[in-house]
Amino acid sequence: MKKGRILTGDRPTGPLHLGHYVGSLANRVKLQDEYETFIIIADVQALTTNFEHPERLPEDVRQVAMDNLAVGLDPEKTTILVQSMVPEIAELTIVYSMLVTVNVLRHNPTIKTEAKQYGYKEVSYGFLGYPVSQAADITFCKANLVPVGVDQVPHLELTRKLVRRFNELYKPVLVEPEAMVGEIGRLIGLDGNAKMSKSLGNCIYLSDSAEEVAQKVSMAITDPARMRRNDLGHPNVCTVFTYHKAFNSTFVPELKKECETAGIGCVDCKKRLASALNGLLDPIRERRAKYEADPKLLDEILSAGTARAREEGRKTMADVREAMHLDYF
Ligand code: ATP
Ligand code: MG
Repeated sequence: MKKGRILTGDRPTGPLHLGHYVGSLANRVKLQDEYETFIIIADVQALTTNFEHPERLPEDVRQVAMDNLAVGLDPEKTTILVQSMVPEIAELTIVYSMLVTVNVLRHNPTIKTEAKQYGYKEVSYGFLGYPVSQAADITFCKANLVPVGVDQVPHLELTRKLVRRFNELYKPVLVEPEAMVGEIGRLIGLDGNAKMSKSLGNCIYLSDSAEEVAQKVSMAITDPARMRRNDLGHPNVCTVFTYHKAFNSTFVPELKKECETAGIGCVDCKKRLASALNGLLDPIRERRAKYEADPKLLDEILSAGTARAREEGRKTMADVREAMHLDYF
């Protein structure tokens, strides 16, 4: 017996990175045996910011699907679906849109941060409303657990409110989900920016080669007070040290001491990080190569997953229609 259902996913706006890994992907892999797992590739949500370039979606959708499979999600156990091809999600979005005010959406902290990040003076209706569409993503399959990074927590709160409101107003047919934030809810960028993000160009991608990883790590920001090799380091303000904590934890006490006493220089410390990261990424690269060599297999996985998701969507929408008296004939 499974413990319940997971729904989570990513926007196909580019390849996935280490932030996704620690924030959500690692939990997806860990939990796939315990929970019936649905992974959504949120292409409609990608359009909320990338609407001028829909032509990129076919490639980006496949890349994100491959990233999920490459980290170890098993297509026999999990359902990977493409959001725009499950129209029931769009139907449910419309229902939810009646149950939230524009003001509530405007005050969502993640929406505010992202609007600033993208330099929007004004936001589109679709962008402002993407947390509503996300509520539909999560609830169309009645998921009860959502592994996500910390930026998604305000959205999950909205989902919970919408479900409660629906269930109270109409009939208790929808499931209120809970967020599960990964070990590191927000991985900082290599440039020291608050978030590693596709849109900020400060990422190590799961699909980067070993050389790219070493190169990127060598450029990462370290302790600004440590100019010369013999200066004592301050690991707590060093981006590279944060990464050691996330990806090389066994060696953290030793590295901390060596840094603080100038026993190790930044160049060597970075080399040790690159090698730890490549140790994590090597098996991911291997699995990815299998799917890259067989595009037909990937499309079969996506189309079967999407069909399976539609079945769930139809069942949920039947419940929703019945609860709202919209089942006329
Ligand atoms: P974009 O900048 O295009 O929005 P993104 O990097 O924020 O991309 P999403 O597809 O929006 O990625 O997010 C997918 C999942 O990964 C979400 O659960 C999100 O919280 C998580 N995530 C993304 N970046 C990080 C990060 N730096 N640290 C931890 N979790 C992250
Ligand atoms: Mg995002």
